[in-house]
Amino acid sequence: MADLYVDGEWREPVAGGRREIRCPADGRLAATVSEGTRPDAEAAIGAARRAFDTGPWPRTPERERGALLLRTADLIERDAKEFARAESLDTGKRLVESEYDIADVVSCFRHYGGIGGTDAGRVIDTGRDDAVSRVVYEPVGVCGLITPWNYPLLQASWKVAPALLAGNTFVLKPSELTPSTSILLVRALAEAGLPAGVANLVLGAGPEVGAPLSEDPAVDMVSFTGGLETGKRIMATAAAGVKKVALELGGKNPNVVFADADFETAVDFALTAVFLHSGQVCSAGARLIVEDSIHDRFVGEVVRRAAQIRLGGPFDPDAETGALISAQHLAKVEAYVAAGIAEGAVLRCGGARPDDPDLAGGHFYPPTVLDECTQDMRVVHEESFGPVLTVERFSGDEDDAVRIANDTEYGLAGAVWTQDAGKAQRVARRLRHGTVWINDYHPYVPQAEWGGFGHSGVGRELGPSGLDEYREPKHIWQNIQPRPQHWFRG
Ligand code: NAD
Repeated sequence: MADLYVDGEWREPVAGGRREIRCPADGRLAATVSEGTRPDAEAAIGAARRAFDTGPWPRTPERERGALLLRTADLIERDAKEFARAESLDTGKRLVESEYDIADVVSCFRHYGGIGGTDAGRVIDTGRDDAVSRVVYEPVGVCGLITPWNYPLLQASWKVAPALLAGNTFVLKPSELTPSTSILLVRALAEAGLPAGVANLVLGAGPEVGAPLSEDPAVDMVSFTGGLETGKRIMATAAAGVKKVALELGGKNPNVVFADADFETAVDFALTAVFLHSGQVCSAGARLIVEDSIHDRFVGEVVRRAAQIRLGGPFDPDAETGALISAQHLAKVEAYVAAGIAEGAVLRCGGARPDDPDLAGGHFYPPTVLDECTQDMRVVHEESFGPVLTVERFSGDEDDAVRIANDTEYGLAGAVWTQDAGKAQRVARRLRHGTVWINDYHPYVPQAEWGGFGHSGVGRELGPSGLDEYREPKHIWQNIQPRPQHWFRG
């Protein structure tokens, strides 16, 4: 099958490359897809540029663009089973989690579709009767959208839906490890009636088909979700062309538990916070910061339950979490755990590949708890992006909790657990993280912004500011009674 989508056509790559996608849980062949190279990316950028400069989409009323998003949502919902299965085969995540993700994708398209045409900009009172002034929104132009492997379709949707609503054209470049659902998404957009050239899809390695998106002068904006080092490189390259840049990068997220928290609930969510999708979540609560007085009991219970979490493949109904994305990533997680132990952390559970023969074909790593950690350890301040919980203690003092929680270059998300409503609000306001949960972990709504402080990123996704990333306010002033003013007598 030809899987690159350029100018409204499915194409084979210029160099004819193919890539095998193997399920991380058992190594089975999940898909064989086209593997593009730089000329394919350049062709896609050219098509997006032409569609923006001369095509109908940027000038289509926003309400109609919204209607197309709503049709797309219906199509994804119609094919939800196929989407979820493809997502699970590519990522190795449990089918039920993929089903949730696809439902979130549908909600995302419905959210943006539903607000289409509801914001006509602003009319400004000029204080004069011979002039009118208003601010309208224009699309940014050609957007390069680059996405990671952990939530492949959801991350793509958070970019594609607002970019389209605002009237942009785009080139989507999904992770080379998880391309299948992006192919299905582009099919759905085409079926919904998107004009040729508006959506373009390139598949392949980052340096080959991703890099041109930040280098090519024909691209106006790069929106990237992925790792910090890649984000920095993209930002530096985009700077040469003064491109607009939106970056959603990593996180090293604190989960702060005060002694007066509801014990059982806080334990339960401490597990979900970090072990959901085997910790391969940018907002994972990977740093447990627990009040000294309950440390032993709390961590004891977390360890007891973590040790029972059952690993398995995407279609194993008894599995509670799945495999890591690749052998390379598994080795990285192992190295972080080893470094933590070498630096003085106490291994409380996990820490070694499972010996279950049923898991031998996959990249499995068990839920791991490292106790007695300190901020200077690499495993505490760098993103392992695996099922690894580090535990630190704090005195019970709010300042102490906030100091440890904010001691990170990242600032994506975090949580605070306490039954004292005042303390909860005070600490939540002081956490330098883009999303803060009080007595909860992980929920989000498309109406609210998602994004981080510090090195967690630049700009926002979702919420009103998320849409603003993809449009530029333009001030239009109209003199409605033009007459000579005679500033100059001659
Ligand atoms: P990654 O940076 O390795 O890759 C992300 C994407 O960038 C891939 O599509 C890759 O091919 C592409 N890429 C690589 N080199 C490139 C280059 N030179 N130019 C352009 N594109 C290039 O990240 P990953 O390993 O796929 O994803 C995991 C990371 O994503 C984690 O750090 C995680 O925290 C982050 N993440 C953040 C959020 C968020 O909302 N903040 C959400 C999900 C994931």
